Formats: sequence, structure tokens, C-alpha cells
Amino acid sequence: MATKPVLLGLAAAAAAAAAAVLAGGPRWLVLVAGLGAIAVVLATLAAPRREAQAKPDEERDEDGLPARPAPVAEMLDGLVDPVLLVAGGRREDPASRRFVYANAAAKALFLLARREGILATAVRSPEILAIVDEALYGGATGEARYEPGGAQERIWRAHAAPLASGGGDGTLALLTFRDETDVRRTERTRADFLANASHELRTPLASLTGFIETLRGHARDDAGAREKFLAIMHGQARRMGRLIDDLLSLSRIELNEHVPPVGEADLAAAAGDAVEGLAPLAQEKGVAFRIQSPPQGAPVAGDRDQVLQVVQNLAENALKYSAPGGEIAIDVAAGLSAAEAAQPRSEDAAHMVLLMPDHALGQTYAAVRVRDFGPGIAREHLPRLTERFYRVEGQKSGETSGTGLGLAIVKHIVNRHRGGLTVESAEGQGAAFTAFFPSRPD
Ligand code: ADP
Repeated sequence: MATKPVLLGLAAAAAAAAAAVLAGGPRWLVLVAGLGAIAVVLATLAAPRREAQAKPDEERDEDGLPARPAPVAEMLDGLVDPVLLVAGGRREDPASRRFVYANAAAKALFLLARREGILATAVRSPEILAIVDEALYGGATGEARYEPGGAQERIWRAHAAPLASGGGDGTLALLTFRDETDVRRTERTRADFLANASHELRTPLASLTGFIETLRGHARDDAGAREKFLAIMHGQARRMGRLIDDLLSLSRIELNEHVPPVGEADLAAAAGDAVEGLAPLAQEKGVAFRIQSPPQGAPVAGDRDQVLQVVQNLAENALKYSAPGGEIAIDVAAGLSAAEAAQPRSEDAAHMVLLMPDHALGQTYAAVRVRDFGPGIAREHLPRLTERFYRVEGQKSGETSGTGLGLAIVKHIVNRHRGGLTVESAEGQGAAFTAFFPSRPD
């Protein structure tokens, strides 16, 4: 046991404290000196082996790790969270609170040139200054929200705690900050989603309630009106059903988005199945599907139902937005690199990559491209297409319209499969969506 250095450290602590007291220095200086010396003792205790061997030129142990613990200041500079050590001055004088240490993250957040200074000039938030005072003089921890403003919206949670070593009477407090921007953003997205979902369900429900009242009232004995209203009610009820199905699908997909899919599917077969399922609707509208796929198929690694759902949603949209009598082209290709799969095909159309897989060296992909000749989508809408409930303003709504969740579902499924999604479109000239999935390993 390295007794000698411990004693030396304790002696240094006592000497540093005594020197500061004798010099008439402020109390926080006494404490910082004391803390520093205690840190030396702790560091000594933490490295008994090195002491035992007592070889000054030996910087690393046999595992190649540093034998000496990193200095505290260097460790604090390595933290992503801003940290300030605050010393209280005269209680009644807020200007006497000083930060006596600021780590690198704190310097960056408050644009500090130095590691110490007057707290109120660095941190200009009354709420934060209040929790610091509470920690210094009330001995209580406190939290406050901090929003610096500026172009980049960031939200921080500040936390002030008294340091026991400070004696709890106006000496030392630790002020730390945690970046809560992402958490808040997620909370807001969830709240928006709930509000949107409720609104979407409320609209058909209000229509159903209205018709029920009419049928029970003045339309009670009008057979013609009854038939007409019941048909509308049926449509609204189906719309609510579709919404609920899509909401459930989306939540199921999101729940296991981080779980890699097992199984295999064939994009060419999925294209055939999707078109078959849409045949009655396509016939009704006089729209023809044309599929082109490699004769050997396009096998991909993934969940067959989900891969089918992607093709189905894209084909359904193409059909929904096609003019009667039009044509929809579905092209399936295999053996592509991610860059080839995401490559635009049309020169005049706007092109947007909505999702790109992480770089996987040597990975090949199979892609399905669904091209329609409908109204297309203006460039400014492209980035937001996969947001839940996002719809292009002015596009036809009502019974035949979708839920605004189709492309969000597509994106989540493709993301789960580590694939990609792109869109090309020119207003008035139709749209082309391409989804690609990693090829099945041979
Ligand atoms: P929806 O169920 O409303 O179709 P989606 O998430 O599938 O919802 O699509 C979002 C929006 O993107 C649609 O409301 C529509 O405005 C636009 N959109 C999607 N596909 C096409 C397409 N093939 N042609 C034109 N607009 C499209």
C-alpha cells in the first residue's frame, strides 16, 4: 500500500488550505485548493500498482492503458455536457457569484473566452441564476430550462447542485446543462401526431353523426334520401376503417423498425401481386399497369408482407393520382449499387432522395420504380412527402383520397430493411417513386 504518497497528499491539502487562509484568500479558494489536494490523494490511491513499481519512466501498464488517471480538467473537457463550477460571494450581491471553472462545452455554449469570470455576465438567464443561488445558499438542487435563442433552436435543461465539500453555505455549486432539443422535438412530433390522428378520425365521424341525425329526423320517410345517405355513410365508415388500419400498421412497423427483418421476398412477384390486387379499381378507372422485370426475378432479403405493402402503396398512389385512361409503368431491376438504384431517370424532373441506406460496401440492391402520368408533385413538396398526414394542398380529397400515411409507412418499412427511397416528379408530368432493398445473399 502506498502510504507515503497518501500522507504527502494530505499534508499538501493541509498546507494549501492553511496557505490560502493565511494569505486571507476567499473561502472558495481555500476549498478549491483543498479539493485539488484531495484529488491528488485520490489519484494516488487509484494507481497503487504504479506506485508499487515506482518506475517514473513507465507511462503505460502491460495492457497498453495509461497507468495514471486522466487529469480531472481534461476529463471534464471531454464531456459533451457543459459544466460550470460556481463560487458564491456575498449573498446579497449577485454580481459576486463567479464561475471558477468552465469546461470546453460550457465555454462553447456561453461563448466564453476564459475559464473563469462573473456568472451573471456569462449566463444571462434569471431562472438559472435563481437555481444557482438556491444551491449556494439554500443547499437545494434545482432545475431550469434554458433556451439561448438564435438561428439553431436548442433547448437545454440546467441543473444546479450544492457541493457538499463547499459546506452548503454559499461556497460552491455545480451547474450542469443537458441538451434536450431532441427529446422536446420528439415530444412535439408525438403531440402533433395525436392531434392530426384525432382530427382525421373526427371528420368522418362528424359526417356520420350528421347523417344519422338527418335519417332520424326529416329524411326518416324519404326512401331516396335514405339510400343516398347510407351510401355516403358507408364510404365514411370505410375511410375510418382505412385510417385505423394504417395507424395500426404504422405503429407496428415503428415498434420493430430496429429489428432486422428475416425471410426473403421477390420484388417482381410483389409487383405482380400488387397489380393483381388493384385490378378491379384499375379497370373501373380504365388505367393500364405495365410491368417490366428481369426473367430471373428480383430476390431481396426481407419480410414478404412488408415488401408487398411498399409496392402496393406506391402502385395505389399511382392509380389514385392517374387520369382515367392512363398508364402506369412498374419497372423492377436487380443487381444495382445503392447509387445506381437512387439515380434519377428523367432529366427534366425534380429528384429527391427520401432515404438512403448506410454505406454497405459491395451490397447490391433490387429496385422497383412506379411511374405514373398524373398531375405530379411540385418540387417544394418533395421533402415532406413521407411525413405522416402530409398531403399536397389542392389535391383531390374525399372518399377516394388516402389517409396521408401511405408514404410514411413505405419509408419506415424501407428503413427497417436498410433500403432506399427516391422520388422524381415534374408538375403536370407525373411522378416516379423508386424503392430499393438489399438483394438476398446467394
Ligand atoms: P395518401 O394516402 O394521401 O395518398 P401518401 O402518404 O401516400 O398519402 O401520400 C402523401 C401525399 O403525397 C398525397 O396526399 C399526395 O398529395 C402526394 N402523392 C403521393 N403519391 C403521388 C403521386 N403518385 N402523384 C401525385 N401526388 C402524390
